[in-house]
Amino acid sequence: MRAEVDTMLCKAYANCTFEAPEVFEVDETTGKAHILVEGSLESRRDEVERAVDACPVGAIRLTK
Ligand code: SF4
Repeated sequence: MRAEVDTMLCKAYANCTFEAPEVFEVDETTGKAHILVEGSLESRRDEVERAVDACPVGAIRLTK
């Protein structure tokens, strides 16, 4: 499982970084979240799914 952030939707609310701080970070320059982890997020599935649910604009999408 991997994740993508739609930077057109992301509004830097940072909820994702609270739910999964090792996976998501908001770039102070761009004001957009990005993924810190390369490769599969399977071992972090629970926190990543919480981040998806916590994003108020639905900007995080899970992929295979
Ligand atoms: S919670 Fe959603 S809108 Fe907020 S920083 Fe994360 S991806 Fe962006």
